[in-house]
Amino acid sequence: MAGPDLMDKLVSLTKRRGFIFQSSEIYGGTGSVWDYGPLGVELKRNIKDIWWSAMVHQRDDIEGLDAAILMHPRTWEASGHVEGFTDPLVECSSCHRRFRADLAEVAGGQCPTCGTRNAFGEPRMFNLMFRTFMGPVEDAASTIYLRPETAQGEYVNFLNVQTAARQKVPFGIAQIGKAFRNEITPGNFIFRTREFEQAEMQFFVKPGTDEEWFERWKAERMAWHESLGIRKENLRFHEHTKDELAHYAKKAFDIEYQFPFGWKEFEGIHNRTDFDLRRHQEYSGKRLEYIDPGTNERFIPFVIETSMGVDRLLLVLLADSYREEQVEGEERVVLALAPRLAPIKAAVFPLVKKDGLPEIAAKLHEGLRRAALPSFYDEAGSIGRRYRRQDEAGTPWCLTVDGQTNEDGTVTVRDRDSLEQTRIPADRAADWIRERLGR
Ligand code: ATP
Repeated sequence: MAGPDLMDKLVSLTKRRGFIFQSSEIYGGTGSVWDYGPLGVELKRNIKDIWWSAMVHQRDDIEGLDAAILMHPRTWEASGHVEGFTDPLVECSSCHRRFRADLAEVAGGQCPTCGTRNAFGEPRMFNLMFRTFMGPVEDAASTIYLRPETAQGEYVNFLNVQTAARQKVPFGIAQIGKAFRNEITPGNFIFRTREFEQAEMQFFVKPGTDEEWFERWKAERMAWHESLGIRKENLRFHEHTKDELAHYAKKAFDIEYQFPFGWKEFEGIHNRTDFDLRRHQEYSGKRLEYIDPGTNERFIPFVIETSMGVDRLLLVLLADSYREEQVEGEERVVLALAPRLAPIKAAVFPLVKKDGLPEIAAKLHEGLRRAALPSFYDEAGSIGRRYRRQDEAGTPWCLTVDGQTNEDGTVTVRDRDSLEQTRIPADRAADWIRERLGR
């Protein structure tokens, strides 16, 4: 399917089924800000839970953190964001639309919106941090920023976490949270927005071991994405050239996905050296050294960072799982999400609205909910239409209660991907689903 076409289809499907709505839509929408609806919030939670489980729960060497969005303003001086977190901005002399000067469409000097030639003057640098004021007085002394990345919360808490959790280097700190960037040219649906969520992990290592840890995290993160079922041919690494490297980085690789609009980054793995801790030590006047308990050696650890955009991964999963297929002469749209990512795990249908079938189905639905398996009850419309609605929602299994259920207590399970139908005992349904989710 052609790229722009697929993006339009994703925007419309996600709105129709309640995954993603434009923010403040009734007022005409907020530019490039999106709200996650009933199914979207479940999908996003599943992504975050699976990431948290892999990064924090299944390891002894990574601790979790939930730092505040508002940080001391000196943080952003130390990190280099006040001075350097800028993009070059140009404005069209005719229509006054603004663009990032480094965009390919702008390079020839022609405005991509109104077509004016030689439309742009010299670019000026624009800081991407959102600014606000803390307390009732709006002056320079009360200026505070919405964090443009979650990582700094992990650096300023490095010693708090290390001592409280009695961790030894190498160890990591992970957190998931909102970040804000006043992007000049946001777009491509939830790919580039002004408010987004990051899942970041900072791994503190002894200098000299950083390159080895970098390779380990690079491999581990790619394997994790593959484990979500993303097609391998749509994933690749991109190494930052000298020109692309951020001021703090010694080495950086992006994990890229082949989006409908081209290969783009959705996670970065960076060797940030000791830049951040060293700068925070300098700006705060507090020692941020680690003392090796075995050798009494003191050093400022190097940091290997894995930084993933939760919204971008969600877009990857939508794009990668979207299918249009012909089934028995009819077209169906399916989100073939891995079952553990699917917002609804099972839908329960009575075949007809009589003979006591709705009551049995409602009981089955209730049982699944009590077993903490998100379930959806639907008795409206033909069975085919009910299947189609669940296919679009990505629901892996549909359970139908029919005449035979009254006789032998079994229900039909229809598999979203293979379309195969099997019968299982209704009172085993929760276990049957749990087994397939690997729980
Ligand atoms: P880009 O080059 O696309 O602007 P970046 O290199 O600035 O991204 P990082 O600072 O490395 O991105 O941020 C890490 C991750 O955070 C990115 O891989 C991406 O998934 C996510 N991210 C960054 N900016 C945005 C945004 N404006 N909207 C949504 N996600 C974002």
